[in-house]
Amino acid sequence: LTRNVLIAMVLAVLLGSLAHVALANPELNETLRYVLKQVLAEGVFDVIGQIFIASLKVMVVPLVFVSLVCGVCHLKDQSSLGMLSLKTIVLYLLTTGLAITLALFLANLLDPGVGASIETQGNYVPPEARSLKDVLVDIFPTNPIKAMAEGKMLQVIVFAVLIGIAIGQAGKAGERIGAAFNHWNEVLMKLVTLMMQLAPFGVFALLFSIFASKGLGTIGDLALYMLTVIMALLLHALVMYPLLLKTLTGLSPLIFLRKLRNVQLFAFSTASSNATIPVTLRAVEQRLGVNNRVASFAVPLGATINMDGTAIMQGVATVFIAQAFQLQLDMMDYMLVVLTAMLASVGTAGVPGVGLVTLAMVLDQAGLPAEGIGLILGVDRILDMIRTAVNVTGDAMVSVVVANSEGGLDKDQFNDPAAGVEKA
Ligand code: ASP
Repeated sequence: LTRNVLIAMVLAVLLGSLAHVALANPELNETLRYVLKQVLAEGVFDVIGQIFIASLKVMVVPLVFVSLVCGVCHLKDQSSLGMLSLKTIVLYLLTTGLAITLALFLANLLDPGVGASIETQGNYVPPEARSLKDVLVDIFPTNPIKAMAEGKMLQVIVFAVLIGIAIGQAGKAGERIGAAFNHWNEVLMKLVTLMMQLAPFGVFALLFSIFASKGLGTIGDLALYMLTVIMALLLHALVMYPLLLKTLTGLSPLIFLRKLRNVQLFAFSTASSNATIPVTLRAVEQRLGVNNRVASFAVPLGATINMDGTAIMQGVATVFIAQAFQLQLDMMDYMLVVLTAMLASVGTAGVPGVGLVTLAMVLDQAGLPAEGIGLILGVDRILDMIRTAVNVTGDAMVSVVVANSEGGLDKDQFNDPAAGVEKA
């Protein structure tokens, strides 16, 4: 399946970009233009692409809820839940802090914004920032059905944990309900495997539409910006994570990365950590051997609060915008940028483009103009895809590390190349 998805991805990027170039040519035959644009890019492929995203999203809330209830209700010692959450959250914050520091460092080394012309594309209106108080209060659901309907992941997590704890303490009734949740979990996991078969078609359709309409973006002055972001993302994913994994668990980073390829492809195509949750959860549990107790908590939590790739983009973007506007940042500004980027992602779901929304808060802290976001808008979609792949890699890495420290990792399964392979 991974191979097919990869082929679909490469084909779609190539053909889509070609279509984009052809469409930009004023001499293109009208019929061909109509077929390429209306029939294919904005018609058939757009429809298939959206159905594919829907097929993933539809599983997110039921799967997170059921899986997490299962994870919590089977805890022998429920007081260990506190330690588990603490470890997970600290690791998520730590990796994000490392990510943004790396990005700031690299951006200052490569100076992507020096001499860039200030020509903002599109008019970006930053949304009203939410106060920390609102963010905190908003974690606690008042109506579980509403939280699920709106896809508020942190609220769903809190409700699932509460129900799970109660099931664990409710004696006979709890046992029966717990068993039912277990069955549901198996059924939903099966659904994930089934839906994943759509991936090669879905990925092709989705990427073709995007690349045909946007091409590779208007690069111009942004080439060095893109390069800096991509370099930082690669360094973080291919050096920092492997180092952390090796030092903290002694496990092979190569196996880890190989088994995660599929998840990264899904994240890349959908640009949404949230929509990728079902695939990440499946890979973390069935391919990497993390038990349900840790995975069901760490994966959905990570999709919401852990966005290392996004933090990297924000670090580079801050330096880029400061340089383009010829504004100086001092040490204090950098510290504020690191802190805000770490906190800004908490409470915002991993959906396409959310990184730009939180970037407005980061810029604000550093005293930079939010209009600066208009500078980088043109190339953000492609960077969004790459950084989302990094975001989900981070979620999986932390899940493995936490599972390892909690005795919840099956190392044989981790090392077994055949474990949980998806068949196309
Ligand atoms: N699309 C990213 C994600 O879902 C968030 C972002 O950087 O915009 O993880």
